Amino acid sequence: MFDILIKNANEIVKEDGILQGDIGIRNGRIECMGNSFCKELSHAQTVIDATNKTVLPGFVDCHTHLVYAGSRHFEYELKTAGETYSSIHKKGGILYTVEQTRKAGIEELVEKGLKDLDIMLQHGTTTAEIKSGYGLDEKNELKILYTIKVLQKLHPITIIPTFLGAHTIPEEYKQNRQGYVNLVKSMIPEVKGMVEYCDVFCDKLGFTYEESKEILEEASKHGLKLKIHAEQTGYNQGAKLAAELKAVSADHLDYITEKEMEAMKQADVTAVLLPGVTYHLTELIPGNKNQKRFLPRKVRTMIEKGLRVAIATDYNPGSCRTQSMKAIMEAAARLYRMNNREIINAATINAAYALNRANEIGSIAVGKKADLVVHDCEEHGILVDNFGVNLVDTVIKDGEVVYQR
Ligand SMILES: [Zn+2]
Repeated sequence: MFDILIKNANEIVKEDGILQGDIGIRNGRIECMGNSFCKELSHAQTVIDATNKTVLPGFVDCHTHLVYAGSRHFEYELKTAGETYSSIHKKGGILYTVEQTRKAGIEELVEKGLKDLDIMLQHGTTTAEIKSGYGLDEKNELKILYTIKVLQKLHPITIIPTFLGAHTIPEEYKQNRQGYVNLVKSMIPEVKGMVEYCDVFCDKLGFTYEESKEILEEASKHGLKLKIHAEQTGYNQGAKLAAELKAVSADHLDYITEKEMEAMKQADVTAVLLPGVTYHLTELIPGNKNQKRFLPRKVRTMIEKGLRVAIATDYNPGSCRTQSMKAIMEAAARLYRMNNREIINAATINAAYALNRANEIGSIAVGKKADLVVHDCEEHGILVDNFGVNLVDTVIKDGEVVYQR
């Protein structure tokens, strides 16, 4: 007897094609799928009727800054008035959120975190990475990482923690950059038991190539896997560094050149694109001082070169305030001109690669974890086409129904 039987789906979206029919789930895993394979049809504890519906793997959101306090919605009108992310950064930006987050207690951060995770789950996300990075001192970075630990215990979404002490230089170290780099390095032995990844914002708003390298090499020595925020607001050699250090992913990549694309491919680094940031910061709109007019072409070149391309929300209070992977998929089509198959794989299996979990999650296959979402639409293309609305019907996490509309 199955624990759950998803019955009569119009589309079961696999990594490399579409099936129709049923999915049998037992002990948290996918046991069978398709028309002819699930023979124990009538025997299941829970039967989910998926007639005229589409089943996808749960979305994997491989890049978020979910733990923070305060809101920066007041910045949005500055953005629509034409101010750039860099100019807003000088007036507050990340450091405003740092100020608010330092003031907040763990309870407040947990409460807000759970609320955000609920929204994610309701939009079909079953695995999410969360970075620290709004503490920027030992006490507050630990507070954020502890918050993430509590969220892991309390919420059904699988949470992968990342240490991003090197998010930006805090106010008190503006005149002593090396002092802050040293502080981040000194935190690594302390946080290494709490996180899986170390990340650095390698950018003119964050850390230089050399500073980033110093921090990531220290993290690597302590057994952490690596991620890099690379080439977001300009060319800063972050993608090159990702390839040199064999990082698991390099994220953003708006200003990447073909040379680094090739280096990343050689080093098997996943390219994580964040089209929600492009949308939210109006970066493709003429008149924006930071207009990134060649971005869609760049994305196409990455795909044509065979780079593994993932997408993520980058959920954060400044450059992309959405918890919805569907919103990101919509933006990937409209702004980066990715096709539906590229987009769905980018939001699932390729994002699982970006978290080193492609053997367990990110696709519908026998033996894999039963992290599945039934969407109330007949075909997967409708998810990209029908923008601005949530079509999630049922979310199954580790073989259990955790959300039903
Ligand atoms: Zn980020």
